[in-house]
Amino acid sequence: MSETTETIFSKIIRREIPADIVYEDDLALAFRDINPAAPVHILVIPKKPIPGLADAESGDDALLGHLLLTVKRVAEQAGLANGYRVVINTGPDGGQSVYHLHMHILGGRQMKWPSG
Ligand code: AMP
Repeated sequence: MSETTETIFSKIIRREIPADIVYEDDLALAFRDINPAAPVHILVIPKKPIPGLADAESGDDALLGHLLLTVKRVAEQAGLANGYRVVINTGPDGGQSVYHLHMHILGGRQMKWPSG
């Protein structure tokens, strides 16, 4: 695995800073984005500190599948029966700002495409 860095999300996992946590299991955590871009904006992260999707390795295949199924579960729990968008910003050109892999769940309004 690539070098990992301590991020604000590591502190949320360890409960060192507060977050509005909506789901947790052994491998994943989901919490509301502090600066929501939609009526529902939730982040799903692995507890393993993978910096970004570009750093995931073949041994992470089960974890990545688990994260996607967690997205589905959390979206259902949030009432997004009419649909939602899932985003993984990756690296500088992808607009990633926190280098701990995370999946954005955006919903509660009609999303536009392309996202820009
Ligand atoms: P990205 O730009 O894809 O790296 O997304 C990082 C996201 O983390 C942004 O949408 C931020 O609003 C969100 N964020 C940053 N700090 C916190 C925090 N302490 N609690 C919840 N969300 C956060």
